[in-house]
Amino acid sequence: ENDLAINLIGDITKNRKNFNFSKETTKIIRIVLLGDAAVGKTSMIRRFFTNTFSNNMMMTISISDESKFLKIGDSFVTLKLWDTAGQERFKSLPKNLYQNADGILLLFDVTKQSTFEGITEWMENIKEKLGGVDKKSKRYPVVYLLGNKTDSEERTVSKEAAETKVKELEMEYYDISAKLNINIFEVIMRMTFEIFKKKVGDNETVSLSMNKKEKKSKC
Ligand code: GDP
Ligand code: MG
Repeated sequence: ENDLAINLIGDITKNRKNFNFSKETTKIIRIVLLGDAAVGKTSMIRRFFTNTFSNNMMMTISISDESKFLKIGDSFVTLKLWDTAGQERFKSLPKNLYQNADGILLLFDVTKQSTFEGITEWMENIKEKLGGVDKKSKRYPVVYLLGNKTDSEERTVSKEAAETKVKELEMEYYDISAKLNINIFEVIMRMTFEIFKKKVGDNETVSLSMNKKEKKSKC
């Protein structure tokens, strides 16, 4: 069902002036990237927004955000991705960054065990920053765990290990590579749609999938 939905998302960033992206019509979806330094957060963002990759370590100046303009069914959505840096080791990112997040992409580096072991601590940090927000509440962000650099021959954290970990944490896991452009777009679109469903409610979801079916049965 989610895969069908992903096809319904149109990227209209380039010609957004032709559409009515006013405050009244636009839903904003905010996704924050978290994870230890050098796991590839900035690289993932670059790949998503400019479809480029650099082997060099990139400077990330504290927190920055970039937007894409999407059309999901009849709705306009501004998708904002927040890159974070500098504070990774101390996890001293501001509380409101977490509290305003609809989604969190938590990255580790599959070639560096310590970044995978750091995930438990990141999850505790997220919980702490969200204060009393219940995990089952609509206000709790959707969290995916992502293992980056899966292109590398020096992989030491297996997909199986990551999948075992997410069972315990009750979230989804995906193998990604910013370098080879594996799963970058798919993961972000999947999360965007999951958040969209949560924010807009079930009615629109139903009509979205029905439109799709109607189209199909015609051909
Ligand atoms: P950040 O600190 O989390 O923002 O990490 P960066 O995006 O700056 O990346 C850190 C280093 O990892 C850079 O040298 C990148 O070129 C490299 N890197 C990022 N993504 C990948 C990937 O998918 N595969 C490989 N092999 N290297 C990557
Ligand atoms: Mg960075």
